[in-house]
Amino acid sequence: MKKVIWISFLIVMLSSFKEPLTGKTQKAIQIIPKPREITVLSGTFEMTDNTSIKADQVLVLKAEQLRAYLSPASGYMLPINKKNAEENIIELKLTDDLSSLGEEGYKLNITNKKVLITSYRPKGIFWGIQTLRQLFPDEILRKAKVDNVEWILPCVNIVDKPRFNWRGLMIDYSRTFWNKSQTEKYIDAISFYKMNKLHMHLTDDQGWRIEINKYPDLTKIASKFDTIYHEPPEREGYYSKEDIRELVRYAEARNVEIIPEIEMPGHTSEVFAAYPGLSCTGETLSIHPFFKGPEVNDDVLCAGKDETIKFLENVLSEIIELFPSEYVHIGGDECPKTRWEKCPLDQKRIKDEGLKNEQELQSWFIRRIEKYLNSEGKKLIGWDEIIEGGLSKTATMMFWRGDQNVLLAALNQGNDVIMTPTSYCYFDYPYKVISTEKVYSFEPLSDKLKKVNPEHILGVQANFWSHIDRSEPTMDRQIFPRILALAEVGWTEAVNRNWDNFSLRLKHHNKSLDLLNIYHMIN
Ligand SMILES: [Zn+2]
Repeated sequence: MKKVIWISFLIVMLSSFKEPLTGKTQKAIQIIPKPREITVLSGTFEMTDNTSIKADQVLVLKAEQLRAYLSPASGYMLPINKKNAEENIIELKLTDDLSSLGEEGYKLNITNKKVLITSYRPKGIFWGIQTLRQLFPDEILRKAKVDNVEWILPCVNIVDKPRFNWRGLMIDYSRTFWNKSQTEKYIDAISFYKMNKLHMHLTDDQGWRIEINKYPDLTKIASKFDTIYHEPPEREGYYSKEDIRELVRYAEARNVEIIPEIEMPGHTSEVFAAYPGLSCTGETLSIHPFFKGPEVNDDVLCAGKDETIKFLENVLSEIIELFPSEYVHIGGDECPKTRWEKCPLDQKRIKDEGLKNEQELQSWFIRRIEKYLNSEGKKLIGWDEIIEGGLSKTATMMFWRGDQNVLLAALNQGNDVIMTPTSYCYFDYPYKVISTEKVYSFEPLSDKLKKVNPEHILGVQANFWSHIDRSEPTMDRQIFPRILALAEVGWTEAVNRNWDNFSLRLKHHNKSLDLLNIYHMIN
């Protein structure tokens, strides 16, 4: 009996040592991506119905956003800029002193009296708010009031900034259409992990997914699968211009830039369902689901026809008007040359422009489109095939096929590169091939690359192609949790990355992902 009492006493003693001085329980710190510097102090801050938010005038919108994040679960409508409130506050503040942290960097200081987020620019404040959300009990992510939770934060000092400026996700909307609320869910989830680019692959052989006023049949006809396949209606569709404007605003408020992709000159056979005159053969085609049709279609835009160029300029002018991003992605990948080889108009173009072959015709085509985009103040991004036949010096290359010679050639020439190699970043591949650990092991700047214009590597991006996984739960599971690993690859300095440490933190994010309505593999 005495032994039992002695053991109980020991347990009580040991557990009391673990309790913070305030006697409040706090969540272990499990932030993803891992911040640059983090110092844990003793004590806690508790958000109560007396807490208020203090913010510079220029940050009032961020303060409202913070309140909107915290109020559903806590039930507190925190007042903003309450008179004379200096304690029990969450303060947001811009300062030129933090210019060295760049526009996305921030500092977060939590004492028992106040929470202070400071940054050089509002983007940094927003990332500081995401870190704060991760420090609260997970229930803070609930959309309805939660009782019996103390909203306790650990006292910490965090100094943080990203390693790379480009931390993206590409979603393929062509092979399977994903609607606005699904896209908003993704923007919420990726921005919680400080990812800042959503690349929308809006057109491909399986459907055109964006309204273009000048060519209404692109959406009326080219957004629909051939009826012989009886595809479920939710897999086809398109974004109206108003949808896109709303999405752009939604993303912008969450530090996410949307980059539109309009594929050319290949992966364009869906266009010929509506405008067959733009192909070499002029044949009207129908739209097949990916595995029912040719995987890469031989029918591509005819580069020999001036009306093709005019069509693309007209489409791009409407795209430019909709998306504030400085980039427009034009695809440029997997363009078979069989039609061009036989097409008299393409052969004439090759001759007239003094080109050697169809590869150079592709390069001519891309340069022609780039010239137009540049004249409209935009920069061109393309898949790494845009290097074939000579890469323009100003194009940005999305590196996917993994050929190091292609990568080195682009970097040597001074082109910007975004790293999306199939071996780490293709999230349509099964986990057996690309595990979360494999993604985490990706080092975008190998020793070899560090010697060749490493500043031109803008960052990393996950690509999700929707040909196999065509429902929301399966798509979610293909992307989550792998993307958390890529978020850390993009944000956290290599020296601060460690798989064992990350995988322990990752386990604590199952609940957050559930509360973000994400289907995911269990970590
Ligand atoms: Zn042609």
